[in-house]
Amino acid sequence: MSKRNLIGGEWRGSDDVMEVRFPYDGSLVDSVSMASAADMDAAMAAAVDGFEVTRKLPSHRRSEILSNMAGLLRARFDEVVEAMILEGGKNRKTAIGETTRALETLKISAEEARRIGGEVFSIDWTAAGENRQGFTRRQPVGAVLGITPFNYPINLACHKIGPAIAAGNPIIIKPAEKTPLSTIILAEIVLEAGFPPAAFSMLNAWGPDSELMVTDPRVAMISFTGSGAVGWMLKSKAGQKKVTLELGGNAGVIVHKDADLEDAAAQAAAGAFANAGQNCISVQRLLIQRDVFEDFADLFVEQVGALKVGDPRDPDVDIGPMISLRDAERAEAWVNEAQGAGASLLVGGGRDGTLFPPTVMTETAPNMRVNCEEVFAPVVTISAYDSWDEAVALINDGPYGLQAGVFTSDIKRVMDAWDRVEVGGLHINAVSTFRVDHMPYGGVKASGYGREGIKYAIEDMTELRLMTLNLR
Ligand code: NAD
Repeated sequence: MSKRNLIGGEWRGSDDVMEVRFPYDGSLVDSVSMASAADMDAAMAAAVDGFEVTRKLPSHRRSEILSNMAGLLRARFDEVVEAMILEGGKNRKTAIGETTRALETLKISAEEARRIGGEVFSIDWTAAGENRQGFTRRQPVGAVLGITPFNYPINLACHKIGPAIAAGNPIIIKPAEKTPLSTIILAEIVLEAGFPPAAFSMLNAWGPDSELMVTDPRVAMISFTGSGAVGWMLKSKAGQKKVTLELGGNAGVIVHKDADLEDAAAQAAAGAFANAGQNCISVQRLLIQRDVFEDFADLFVEQVGALKVGDPRDPDVDIGPMISLRDAERAEAWVNEAQGAGASLLVGGGRDGTLFPPTVMTETAPNMRVNCEEVFAPVVTISAYDSWDEAVALINDGPYGLQAGVFTSDIKRVMDAWDRVEVGGLHINAVSTFRVDHMPYGGVKASGYGREGIKYAIEDMTELRLMTLNLR
């Protein structure tokens, strides 16, 4: 029987069944019932009822539910790892790393659930406020619709479910079509952890079908992680809802001549190719000061050569398959197109089905798609720059602004980069890929708006409510 959808505490199947296939060899892994319009309607109706329960849950209870979830996820750790390897072709090391982070995300959520406070502030800045007092507190917004992408299915779902529960909101989670299985395990965990059943639904729905919930007034907020094309389109349809968008990027990393080149090369190799480059903060553009370009390139290529490509079930493999043949072919076309326009390969190229070897390109131009668009594949470009200002201009050149990295030992450059690099997060002596789960995380420009990182997501998932007290 195909895996079912969880709707307000009830598991329901459907006639619309989707196959889940292992991206490495195309073998059948499982099948999943896709939610109908009636299922979505039922989930939203349940969420409205569920909100009457969740808004009154005391913080110790919300925290306890989240701690229970962390305990249950720990018990099912290996099962989640296997599900992610098979549904998304995620290599074992990365799947273990992601599940470990998902546990952290739930533990952080359990802590933050206790910390949702408010403010007492002096409202008498002008005579009109004399003899009054001002207070604020945060109120849960209502039903949250969490839409997640394929590349980090368990941790990104926890980044939506965790803060929603912490804030006292119901949540409907809709995973990506390609990676439903790990989220189904998470749904079982939410139910078992004691969250009010009406307040949680997990729907495997086709992307376009889900727009029904994007436009429905019973959903108060959309927390979307995915591509810019879908995210910005959904925002335009969301009307009065709150919307947060965690979208893509083409992250740049600057390596200045005063940096520790060995460390930078090692970090860049890990950051460019983790999860087969299918990472919104993957290192895509390496900008190297010309004096150290050759030295850095040699070190980097050596690091890249040590990466093992292959079957994601093999614990030694660093780079598994891409999510689909279509995506691998698209990346290959971009590499070929750049080569046709004068770029050359330092290493890589030569796709084998969904397996795409780590590929390093040089002599690229900023307007090539491997630079100016999100490549979302194990492909990185490496370019030389002469002046610091040129490096800053290059890193900012383009539509995105999620995260960036700068390697330098000069504190003035560090502060200048912090001023001028247009991103949501800048990492010094670290690559763009750095993330721990409680830090504010999100982008500017085409990379979206709003921040995740539990405390910050809770701000987005609540409304500030003011009360003034007239003491006259
Ligand atoms: P995608 O945009 O194709 O899909 C994301 C989700 O949106 C899926 O659940 C999909 O079913 C849903 N969807 C698609 N069309 C829809 C519609 N019309 N209405 C409602 N929902 C719809 O993205 P993807 O290929 O799964 O993921 C890759 C993208 O996600 C990349 O661009 C990557 O950078 C981005 N991403 C961003 C972050 C971040 O935190 N900023 C993290 C991971 C991935």
